[in-house]
Amino acid sequence: MPGGPPPRQWRPDEDSLLRRMVADGASWSAIGRALDMDRRLCKGRHAALLEAPDPPRPTRERKCLCCGRPFLSEGAHNRLCDPCRDGAGEITHGLGGVVIHDGGISGIRITAL
Ligand SMILES: [Zn+2]
Repeated sequence: MPGGPPPRQWRPDEDSLLRRMVADGASWSAIGRALDMDRRLCKGRHAALLEAPDPPRPTRERKCLCCGRPFLSEGAHNRLCDPCRDGAGEITHGLGGVVIHDGGISGIRITAL
């Protein structure tokens, strides 16, 4: 296989945290700490994101797993309506953001403050 080490896989939640922190004017070193990644990788990833913006996410109506109300979900990872996401789950501070444990349903999401 030619080339260097395999590129690190960026998860969608890391991409969105990256975008969010850049939009908030965070420094690259702060972003690197938040993502536990070399800031140069963060910078390169952000440049790549700017060149290839996310396609609009298809949304579909799902029932919230918490309160049962229908809401527009961005995908299988998104099973809680906004009020429940804001208010439910164990929230711990760390990594410069908020780690939300969704009761094991969707794993761990990291969102910027
Ligand atoms: Zn809900």
